[in-house]
Amino acid sequence: MTGPTPQGCQHCGIPHREHFQQWSPPSKGGPGWHKWEPPTQEQIKARMNARRNARRPGR
Ligand SMILES: [Zn+2]
Repeated sequence: MTGPTPQGCQHCGIPHREHFQQWSPPSKGGPGWHKWEPPTQEQIKARMNARRNARRPGR
C-alpha cells in the first residue's frame, strides 16, 4: 500500500515521470486535464507527515 509520493503532482499526486498529461475525472474530484505541477512545500510536508502517520499506528 503506497500513498502519493511527497514529490507527486500538486493536483493528483502522480510522480512527474509517470505523469505526462493525466486525466483525473472531475467525478473523482480531479482537476481534469492538467500538466504536472510541483507540489508546494506545504503539500510536501503534509504528505510526508501523512506517510509517517500511516506507517506508525496512532497512540
Ligand atoms: Zn497531476
